[in-house]
Amino acid sequence: MEHVERKLTAETAAAAKLYVSEVEGWVVDECLQLHGGAGYMDEYEISRLYADARISRIYAGTSEIMKEIIGRGLVWTSAEGLR
Ligand SMILES: Cc1cc2nc3c(=O)[nH]c(=O)nc-3n(C[C@H](O)[C@H](O)[C@H](O)COP(=O)(O)OP(=O)(O)OC[C@H]3O[C@@H](n4cnc5c(N)ncnc54)[C@H](O)[C@@H]3O)c2cc1C
Repeated sequence: MEHVERKLTAETAAAAKLYVSEVEGWVVDECLQLHGGAGYMDEYEISRLYADARISRIYAGTSEIMKEIIGRGLVWTSAEGLR
């Protein structure tokens, strides 16, 4: 909604990207674990899903860079409060 209204900030977008990428990783990791050793094998769909989910924490800006953007926003917000 913020994006449609042209109010989406870089910090909010970074927080959303970070959260969704990390949750995707946790969920697919749990799903693979549920399948046991079979889930690690190429024959099982979950193996492919696991590999595909891993890239989310890297492309379009890594999770570390998302944290940096969020952190920078917090510093600026705090600095503005001191004025
Ligand atoms: C399948 C795939 C598709 C892609 N598609 C596109 C695309 O369509 N368009 C496009 O432009 N790019 C694309 N990329 C590139 C992708 O965006 C980059 O791989 C990504 O931004 C990470 O950059 P890097 O690989 O140079 O890693 P690096 O920048 O070398 O980072 C290596 C590691 O160091 C960490 N790191 C780096 N700097 C810091 C820092 N300041 N603080 C803390 N940690 C840090 C990173 O988080 C990472 O874990 C794609 C990559 C892949 C694998």
